[in-house]
Amino acid sequence: MSEDNKTLCAHVEEELHVKDPQAYIQLIQPATHYCQGCGRSAAKAENVCKPQKLP
Ligand SMILES: [Zn+2]
Repeated sequence: MSEDNKTLCAHVEEELHVKDPQAYIQLIQPATHYCQGCGRSAAKAENVCKPQKLP
């Protein structure tokens, strides 16, 4: 699995939001989905493990 295919959930486990905030922000803006599993928001459904569309 490449870095690009990792879910945000996996990125956060590895603390991308701490190590590389800019890269993390690019993954979540503009947020259109959120993860029902961990509550994270994301720009793409495939970036979270249990995607739900934001209203
Ligand atoms: Zn998740």
